[in-house]
Amino acid sequence: MTKNTSPTPPSETGRSFKELPLSPAMLAILDQLEYRTMTPIQAASLPITLAGKDLIAQAKTGSGKTAAFSLPLLTKLNPRRFAVQAMVLCPTRELADQVTQELRRLARFADNIKILSLCGGATMRPQRESLEHGAHIVVGTPGRIMDHLERGSLNLEALDTLVLDEADRMLDMGFYDDISFVIKHCPAQRQTMLFSATYPEGIAGLAKKFMREPQQITLEEKHEASKIRQRFYEVSEGERLQTVATLLKHFRPVSTLAFCNTKQQCRDLLDVLQSHGIKALTLNGDLEQRERDQVLIQFANRSCSVLVATDVAARGLDIAQLEAVINVDVTPDPEIHIHRIGRTGRADEDGWAFSICTPADMYRVDCIAKMMGSEPEWHLVEELKTTNDARLVPPMVTLQILGGRKEKIRPGDVLGALTGEAGFTREQVGKINVTDMSTYVAVARNIAREAVKKLSAGKVKGKTVKVRSLED
Ligand code: ADP
Ligand code: MG
Repeated sequence: MTKNTSPTPPSETGRSFKELPLSPAMLAILDQLEYRTMTPIQAASLPITLAGKDLIAQAKTGSGKTAAFSLPLLTKLNPRRFAVQAMVLCPTRELADQVTQELRRLARFADNIKILSLCGGATMRPQRESLEHGAHIVVGTPGRIMDHLERGSLNLEALDTLVLDEADRMLDMGFYDDISFVIKHCPAQRQTMLFSATYPEGIAGLAKKFMREPQQITLEEKHEASKIRQRFYEVSEGERLQTVATLLKHFRPVSTLAFCNTKQQCRDLLDVLQSHGIKALTLNGDLEQRERDQVLIQFANRSCSVLVATDVAARGLDIAQLEAVINVDVTPDPEIHIHRIGRTGRADEDGWAFSICTPADMYRVDCIAKMMGSEPEWHLVEELKTTNDARLVPPMVTLQILGGRKEKIRPGDVLGALTGEAGFTREQVGKINVTDMSTYVAVARNIAREAVKKLSAGKVKGKTVKVRSLED
């Protein structure tokens, strides 16, 4: 056995979960999820956190932080004790939902572990009622958790694990006071784990105030240069947004995340892309929850080509299969630049990272080059083929079925309806997302119309359902 009190070097990856003091049932679940080896952050942190120690861990998005805190939390949990024993604070509802999903998958190692998501944007009453029925774990945003504490609907007396996920982002969003309020309602005797992508000063402050002799782990950003092909283009300010369309038409990536520095720039870019017939969506604070869900689902299931976002809106989102990242604006912070481009070229896929720069951005580009330790590779916009008139069209279309978790619809019901009576093949059906009120299914573009007809005429889970394409 290794006794691990210092960060594991990145080379020491590929270690098995079996090295850890986990129950056979938990190991079986990990096996089922095809988590064969630990990610570097998991290998470095689990020996510490499973021993009950406080931890501050810094690692980039997509590195497996959720399981890193979920395993110690679940291992300690007593399912027979009906009280909130663990709480995870997240900056946004989307992130809380992702954490809840991962926790639910891992929690299958035991029977009846109840996990509640408590976020703003939903009415309080159903949350209060669910809390009355008892929960073992709550996942939520600081503001909403604070509301429940103030109204007395959430009792944290039995809490023994507190997780601050995406802590830097919560501080960016101005949650410091809310977090402090919530932590002050937690028992002093507890384990606290703090996860963050960057390590700004505020985090040290939080740690000092609320953690006990935390161990600290930092995993260096390591992108294999070969996997991310980075190119810089110099243009005038007036050409910036058109250049995004030109890049997309030339390289034709299926999924692109386009980063802007401001919300206004996001809106302007969306107009430009839409005028080119490119299917683009944006995430911003003005959207209703249902609309935000629809944006993320369509982007993740490949029925939207471009997601336009600010850094704040995009952080932490777990989006696999991103062919390209475009820095529509160059960020003044080189660390943020490295985060942005790290979204592409994941797993075994290659990825493009394009940066559009004006002469005024050159100082920023210099800072990025220094931090990356390599010269920027400059290319000319004129090299890009603009003659390609074929529209950039996403391969899939998202269909919305009215009826979701409340109607007990499961992904298998929808897949069954499409591949059964309707006669489509598995390959023509993409991701299926079930939300409370709706189910979204991606289908190949060329069968979308027929799929709407057949689903409407047939039955899902024994019932007729209303179906529409999100593109109509
Ligand atoms: P982070 O919170 O660091 O951004 P996540 O926890 O969301 O990352 O994990 C990213 C993805 O990796 C998720 O889809 C998760 O299911 C998957 N994952 C996590 N740990 C492992 C593992 N050990 N083996 C394989 N996949 C994993
Ligand atoms: Mg995360």
